[in-house]
Parts: sequence; structure tokens; C-alpha cells
Amino acid sequence: MTTLNWFSILIITLLAISTGLQWWLTSRQIRHVQAHRPAVPADFAADISLADHQKAADYTVAKARFSRFGILLDAAWLLAITLGGGMAQLHAVLGQWISSPLWHAVATVVSLLLLQSLLQLPFSLWRTFRLEARFGFNRMTLPLFLVDMVKGAALGAVVGIPFLAGALWLLQSMGAYWWLYVWLAWLGFNVLMLSLYPTFIAPLFNRFKPLEDDGLKARIHQLLQRCGFASSGVFVMDGSRRSSHGNAYFTGFGQNKRIVFFDTLLERLNPEEIESVLAHELGHFKRKHIIQRLIWMFLMALVALAAAGWTLQQAWFYQGVGLAQVDTSLGLFLFFCIAPLFTLPLAPLSSHFSRKHEFEADAFAVEHASASALVSGLVKLYRDNASTLTPDPVHSLFHDSHPPAAIRIAALHAARG
Ligand SMILES: [Zn+2]
Repeated sequence: MTTLNWFSILIITLLAISTGLQWWLTSRQIRHVQAHRPAVPADFAADISLADHQKAADYTVAKARFSRFGILLDAAWLLAITLGGGMAQLHAVLGQWISSPLWHAVATVVSLLLLQSLLQLPFSLWRTFRLEARFGFNRMTLPLFLVDMVKGAALGAVVGIPFLAGALWLLQSMGAYWWLYVWLAWLGFNVLMLSLYPTFIAPLFNRFKPLEDDGLKARIHQLLQRCGFASSGVFVMDGSRRSSHGNAYFTGFGQNKRIVFFDTLLERLNPEEIESVLAHELGHFKRKHIIQRLIWMFLMALVALAAAGWTLQQAWFYQGVGLAQVDTSLGLFLFFCIAPLFTLPLAPLSSHFSRKHEFEADAFAVEHASASALVSGLVKLYRDNASTLTPDPVHSLFHDSHPPAAIRIAALHAARG
């Protein structure tokens, strides 16, 4: 335990606020969903049974209660590695075996990340094999879970360790503007990952087959032509190997854009509904949401790295995060560990823009496909994914990337006229 300075006090205060706020939001969500459990909201009464509504309520409450362990674990972990001196101690221990300062720092960060995953493992097992299984969503087997874990760790090592070592090398070698070089490297790394993802990374975890249903293919082809969208193919992913939740997404960019449907989505929606859901996804693309998100992410990274560049020159920072000596490599890692405490006020803003994009994508879908099919498709997805129709409005303001069901469906009805 190092001595505390004003910055340590600030960290403790912000951590208490952030943990308290998340706990409070979760409690609101639990109370709100439970209060609306007895009856299906009037707008959905025709399509969703009371049993399905109550299953959604129970699933939402179970997930919210479970998330509280995560909130506490994250707070305890952050305290342990910073003010508790965890990172400094691990660094000292590893120093007995590793003499190169660069690899010493890399080993410390990697060991911390491994330790953190190990701590999270029981939670992850519980979520998959207890929580998801209890509501009938889990289709994962223990061997598949373990294989995923090993593949994920190997991929993280192959991709992450060289990047980490490169970033720390730039930090040590490039002088005052190191953060600009690290940002450029991070930019290149992200573009590379985004281009490798559809063809090299995603297939490590799932099988992708070209869509075979000719009727559906023709329908999708017409939609793509109407919207002037070039794609290198429509694929079906075996999402059902892990979970019965359904979804659809785009990956890649330029000429390599792929449309991916989870097999679980195709099982449940009729062709007209699938077309509307795809039109919504196309809306995200055509309204430039995807590129806006990327640019926003790149700008935020630049701001964060510039802030790190300044912060790592301040002596109070090292003492504040539990490092007895100035060590910029360890400091950079801890900077990114505590950064979310300072960006907490941005969470509602980010959710706001995300929900705005959802409305715009819905409006695009209504222009190019059937609004009533989108409504019936969404209602099926709400029902089958046991998404609550009655989220707490304040919790939603902070955490929901999508508009609450009732508001979203009302907007679609209004658009249909
Ligand atoms: Zn969307």
C-alpha cells in the first residue's frame, strides 16, 4: 500500500460514485421491470403472451442481479491493481526473471490481464451454464466453451502481444510526441483487424455458409439494388452452436462488405421480415452511422492518448495510482484502467447517439421495405430473445443502445401512417 495523494482520493471518490451510480441504475431497472411484470403492455397484448412477457421480466431481472457481481468485482480489481499496489508488486516479482525493461513491462501487463480473465472465468461459466441455460438460451457445451477460451487467448496473444510491445517501444523511443505515433499505430492496427475479421478471424469461431434459399436470395438482391448497395455476399452463420439469440450484422468495408445472418434469425422470421431487418441494417450503412462511429472512436482514442501524454509527465499521477516509482509503461496501462471513471458522463451521450441512429435506420427501412414486416419481425425478436418491453427509463438513458421497445414500435407505427 502506497501513501495516498489528492489524485488517489479523486480516484476513490470517482470509483465510489461510478459504482454507486451503476448499482442504483441496476436497482431501478429491477424494480421497474418487476412492477410491470403482472401485465403485457397494451400495444403488445395481441402479439406477446403473458407467459412470454413474464419470462422476459424474469430474464431481465436475473441478468441485472447477476451484473451486480461484475460491478463489485471490477471496482475491487481496479483498487487492487492501483492503490492496493497490485501492479507494482507483480512488476517487482517478474523483475527477478526478466531483465529487458520492455519485455518486463509487457510481461506485467499480460500477467495482469490473464489474472483478470481468470477471476472473471467463474462469472462467465455461471452466466453461460446457469443463467442463459435457465432461460433456455444456452446451446454451448463445456468443451466448446473451453475451445473458445483457448482460441480467444491464443488470438489475443498472437495479435495483442506484438501490438502492446510495439506501443510500449514507441512510448520509450519517440520522445514527447510518442502518443501521436502510438495513435497512428493503433489506427493501422484497427484497420488491419477490421479487414482481417470477416475472412480470417470470425471463421475461427463460427462457420459461414453462403445463403442458399433462392427465394430469399432474390428478395435480398432486389433490396440491395433498390438501395444501391454493393456487397461481396450474404452469409449464414451458425450462431445456434452457442446461443438461441438471433441477430444480423455487416462486416468488412469497401468491396468486401458481407451481410451475415445468424441461422437462429432465419429460423424465426419470414422472408418479408428478414428483408425489413436487413433494410434496417442497410440504413446504418447508408446513413453513414458505421463510418461516423469509427471516426468518433478514432478521435476519442486520439484525445485519450494526448491526455495520457500529458498525464504521464505528472509525478502525482504515479503516486496516485499506486506506483512508487515513475514508470511510463506501467503508467500508460493504469491510465487506461482508470480512464472510464473520468469518461462516465459520456455514457448517456453515447447511448443517445446510438438510439438516434436506430431511429434513422428504422426510417430508412420503412422507405425501402415494409414497416409492418419490420414491426412484426422486431416483436418476434423481442419475444424470442426475452427482451423486456418495460425497461426503466433512467437505466435505459444510460445503458441502452436501442430505443425502448414501446417507443421504437410507436415510431414505426407513426411512420406507417
Ligand atoms: Zn440498428
